[in-house]
Amino acid sequence: MIAEKLHEVEAGIEAARLRRTRVPKEAPVHLVAVTKNHDVAAMREAIDAGVSRIGENRIQEAKEKFGVLDRNVQWHLIGHLQTNKAKQAVKYFDLIHSIDSSHLAMAVDKAAASAGKVQDVLVQVNLAEEASKSGIHKEELMGLLKLVDSLEHLHLCGLMLIAPNYENVEACRPLFREMYGIFQKIKGMEWRTANIEYLSMGMTHDYQIAVEEGANIVRVGTAIFGQRQY
Ligand SMILES: *Cc1c(COP(=O)(O)O)cnc(C)c1O
Repeated sequence: MIAEKLHEVEAGIEAARLRRTRVPKEAPVHLVAVTKNHDVAAMREAIDAGVSRIGENRIQEAKEKFGVLDRNVQWHLIGHLQTNKAKQAVKYFDLIHSIDSSHLAMAVDKAAASAGKVQDVLVQVNLAEEASKSGIHKEELMGLLKLVDSLEHLHLCGLMLIAPNYENVEACRPLFREMYGIFQKIKGMEWRTANIEYLSMGMTHDYQIAVEEGANIVRVGTAIFGQRQY
């Protein structure tokens, strides 16, 4: 069942990639299977069916699963991170998608330094400036990117966006398009160590539009695992 849904999502990603008009069609798209609130058995099923990247949004849940999963997979932290959890985030996650303040960037840098690790990170942008969402506002983005690039134990790899949950999913398209423009612009800039490679946007309801507009990481949960039970 999970394998079947997974293959549908993979096909959906490929179809969207081939529909691209403004973005190179060849650029590959990575799937992060979002496993929050789903159990380890479901995770194993997905991994055995081909998932190589999983996304979790809470440190405590990730920690519990990490100990028992018994599969080799990349761990992505997609949820909001509090500075007091930076140390654990660095311990468990290969890529942190949710750096959204200088305060948090410095805390993760410090945690990575004491773990002897250079932590791959994305900076999360709140492009629609929704009060309820985390992410840095556009006007402050460049300053945060420069700070992250300057920190020795962070490696900046790109940008992340959570689009608003519009009733009409097409309403997200201009935001995805604007985000791709920002991504291209910063990709073309000179950085100390940053390699601007990833644009993480698109979830179950909007991933096809995100891919059409240039996302190269999508984070999909419900379409693979079904509704979450809270
Ligand atoms: C839960 C979550 C997702 C996946 O959402 P679905 O609608 O289940 O695909 C993607 N990104 C973030 C940041 C999330 O918290």
